[in-house]
Amino acid sequence: MSLTNGFAALERNGAVVPFDFERRALRPHDVALDIAYCGICHTDIHMIGKWGQQFPLVPGHEIVGSVSGVGPEVTKFKIGDHVAIGVIVDSCRECEPCLRGDEIYCRNVPTSTYDSVDRVDGTRTRGGYSSDYVADERFVYRVPENLDLAATAPLLCAGVTTFSPLRHWKVGPGMTVGVVGIGGLGHLGVKFARAMGAQVVAFTTSPKKAEAALALGAHEAVLSTDSAQMAAQAFRMDFILDTVAATYPLDPMLQALKLDGTLCSVGLPDKFELSAFTLAIGRRSLASSGAGGTNITREMLEFCGAHDIVADIELVKPHQIATAFERLAKADVRYRFVLDMRN
Ligand code: NAP
Ligand code: ZN
Repeated sequence: MSLTNGFAALERNGAVVPFDFERRALRPHDVALDIAYCGICHTDIHMIGKWGQQFPLVPGHEIVGSVSGVGPEVTKFKIGDHVAIGVIVDSCRECEPCLRGDEIYCRNVPTSTYDSVDRVDGTRTRGGYSSDYVADERFVYRVPENLDLAATAPLLCAGVTTFSPLRHWKVGPGMTVGVVGIGGLGHLGVKFARAMGAQVVAFTTSPKKAEAALALGAHEAVLSTDSAQMAAQAFRMDFILDTVAATYPLDPMLQALKLDGTLCSVGLPDKFELSAFTLAIGRRSLASSGAGGTNITREMLEFCGAHDIVADIELVKPHQIATAFERLAKADVRYRFVLDMRN
């Protein structure tokens, strides 16, 4: 065991402050990594607030770094490799989703990278706002060599959470795809949908981001607060990827779907506000999706390597976490904060 320097919320809604703790010694299939960067996901704010289970809570599930140690049975990695860890670090490995590499949908609840319970020793998992991590190699990923390491970190949650539904609903050429909420998740959704060959329409509440979305790769941008602009989108989209964290009136957005279109909401709002008629009128579907298991995470990283896709980031130091949280809560970030955990 070794002492890890981390940052934790000591209590619900508490500030994130320095907090040292011990990581486990390496098990046979474990990889240890020195964390270089960790993305700040909006989920981290939810966890310190209403979603967290146990405090102190060390957030962080967009982790990249280099391998500093390997257990005797590790076959995929060696010391010095650039690797990444996402939102889960274990699962039952026996249920049907696990057997096909869809561990995020593990019937027996996957082990989250933080604020979860280790399946072997029962200890608390603690996340990437820290100097190092230890995980089973099955849940560790190789970072494509051509990608900037810091800007790769957000791919591990924001990236796979948007890539996975775009793949599941077979987004590609000939389709018009809306992406709602141009934040950490949404800006990557725009990049992916564009690279997959779709006509991409960004929906944002911010006039400034409407302009910026075009630079990210959107073909069109719509100010979602403008009812005339929204009405002009009626029956246009084959698929909408909605990343908004808050409950907002969904009907105008659903009305933008074509007959048989699907709106997949990945933002996990507390509840949905919509009329059943809006779905019935266009035989539309409202769906959701989790982040991603090992298969889709690997596929997403390979896709990013092949298409040179990384996040647009603002790099911050640990002492700036509070400011980053405040700005993230106000949707004021271009487009993901990443913590510099070096030193
Ligand atoms: P983020 O960077 O804050 O982006 C969310 C965006 O939603 C904002 O930038 C803003 O975009 C828009 N928005 C915020 N409040 C809004 C409101 N009241 N009405 C309309 N639009 C609003 O957050 P994120 O890190 O991308 O995460 C988004 C959500 O996804 C969070 O709730 C997070 O917990 C969740 N999440 C879910 C999964 C999953 O497994 N399904 C995985 C990761 C994250 P504009 O400024 O463009 O309007
Ligand atoms: Zn996340």
